[in-house]
Amino acid sequence: MGGLDDLYQELILDHYRKRRNQGTLGEPTVAVDHNNPLCGDEIHLEVLIEDGQLVDVRHTGQGCSISQSSASMMSEAAKSLPLPEALDLVEHFRLMMHGTEEGDEDRLGDAIALEGVARYPVRVKCALLSWMALKDAIETYTRDGRTDGNGRDGHPDGEA
Ligand code: ZN
Repeated sequence: MGGLDDLYQELILDHYRKRRNQGTLGEPTVAVDHNNPLCGDEIHLEVLIEDGQLVDVRHTGQGCSISQSSASMMSEAAKSLPLPEALDLVEHFRLMMHGTEEGDEDRLGDAIALEGVARYPVRVKCALLSWMALKDAIETYTRDGRTDGNGRDGHPDGEA
């Protein structure tokens, strides 16, 4: 473990202790729940979508430090992005976690700290959990429109 890894370890713990964008929205556009039974990680993700943009991203959950800090980092990186860019970012993170793409810090922000997790296959699912939840939320919205998990349905705003 070199100095860089120590720095990244600190960043992961910082996000785990002080999770950014933690909590719930009053009226999310889409809410999804994802879990990783291998590790016991749970993520509840809520997004607010307006004019094809991720206006807000909130999360709650429990589990290991990798899964929860990743959700915190994801929420910061994805917030305010247009939906296609958010999906591109998820794919970039996924490829980084599979070791096939080098992480782009400009796009990932603090989530670049998770790049080293790719060396530990058993933890990759932990790191990916919230990002896959975001992908699911965006795809659900694109397919079904507004759905907050309480049976309310509608159509995407401004995408007629
Ligand atoms: Zn985990």
